[in-house]
Order: sequence, then C-alpha cells, then structure tokens
Amino acid sequence: MDDLTSVPKLPPARDRVVPINDRLAPLYPEFEGLNYENPFQLLVAVILSAQCTDKRVNLLTPALFARFPSAHELAECDIKELEQLVKPSGFYKNKAKNIRACCVEMVLRFGGQVPTNLDDLVTLPGVGRKTANVILGHAFETPGVTVDTHVGRLSRRLGLTRHRDPVKVELALAEIVPQAEWLHFSGRLIMHGRKVCLSRKPRCEQCVIADLCPKIGVKGLAEKRKRKKGAKTDSPPGTQRAPRKSARK
Ligand code: SF4
Repeated sequence: MDDLTSVPKLPPARDRVVPINDRLAPLYPEFEGLNYENPFQLLVAVILSAQCTDKRVNLLTPALFARFPSAHELAECDIKELEQLVKPSGFYKNKAKNIRACCVEMVLRFGGQVPTNLDDLVTLPGVGRKTANVILGHAFETPGVTVDTHVGRLSRRLGLTRHRDPVKVELALAEIVPQAEWLHFSGRLIMHGRKVCLSRKPRCEQCVIADLCPKIGVKGLAEKRKRKKGAKTDSPPGTQRAPRKSARK
C-alpha cells in the first residue's frame, strides 16, 4: 500500500481517487479508442497502437481485417504482405512479426481464439501486461487497471503512487480505485494525459482536478523550461557554442 498520506494539505490518495474519477467522468464518458468488432481484432489493433495514435490504427485496420479476418489467416500470411498493410503504424517489421507469431500461438494453443485470462494472454508474442489488461477490460469485460505512460505519469503527479514500474503502479491503483471503475479510470487518465496533463507542459490552470492534485514534479518541469529559455536568451555574444562539425565527410 503506498498511499501518499504525507501530501501536504490534501486528503490521502484513497479519499481523493473517487472524486478525481467523478470529475473526469463527464469529460471522458467513453474512452475514445480503437475500432474493433471482436477480441481478435482488438488484440491486433492494440499491438499496432504501440508508438502510434489510435486514429492512425483505425485507418489501416479495415483493410487488414478484410484481407485477414481471423487468427488462422494471419498465422499463415505472407509476412511481406502483412508488413505493407501495417506500415502506416510505424515499427511495422516488428509489429508484423509479433502479430503473425501471436496468431500462430493462438491457433496452436487456443484454437485460434484470444485467451480470456491474464496468465495466458501474456504468454503471447507482443502481448505485455498492459495490452492484456486492455483486452480483458474491453473485450471480455474483466476489468484491469491499464497502465501506460499517461496513467503512470498522472498517477505520480496526483500523488496516487510513487512507483515508476508499471506493474507496481497497476497494483497500487488496484488497491485504491473501486474495482468497477478500474477500466474507466485508466481510460480517463489516458484521455486527461493526452488533453490536459501533458507530459512536458501540464495545463494545470485548465484542469478540473487541480484542487485535488499535489502536482508532484510539475514545479520542477516549469523551472527546467525557464532554465532552458534563460540559457538560450542570456548567452552573451561570443559565448555560444559553435555548431558541431559533422563526423561524416
Ligand atoms: S493539476 Fe496539473 S498536474 Fe495535476 S492532473 Fe491537472 S494538469 Fe496534471
């Protein structure tokens, strides 16, 4: 249990988490995300969404699923053809390799179906705990706390955990967020992280949960930005670093 009860002038994390969720709920009623029609499509879409926007993934998946409608077809696909179809999502060679390997495993071990529990899901190539929790929560309505970069960052800024390790963040949140809200709470933090609590410049002045947030680490970001700006404008003439010569000839 790592409630940050020492956060000055604010109630403990356990007491703030429900009001935080309640205030974010009307802003992000439904998690905007990936388009899919079944667990197989969601699994493939989530693998493609690594380092890529959901919007971009949603643009390419209709053609992909029209060509390969199930794990059986993808398990036997030509890797070059798959690479071309998933190319717009970036890191396409790796993603294509993982998707095909994942489908081969599903065909061999699970009859071509997506496993319905965390332990089996994480044995599939390209499926980590975060991906598995998204699939369980959205496709099988088995809630899990999904921890991506936004959820981790916001949880620390909000003083809900001190951990940086995603599994520890997941366990810490699972202790304080009501189970019925696990899936939605993660989705709301992700949307809030994309729209308001931005990584480099959080918009605290526009934030509906500002009075519930100790803004841990935010002051440091502003100071860092100031120092950077100062370094750029304050350098007296002649003291700026000369541009580095390229190593290439
Ligand atoms: S108050 Fe600032 S740091 Fe806290 S959640 Fe809102 S934007 Fe993020």
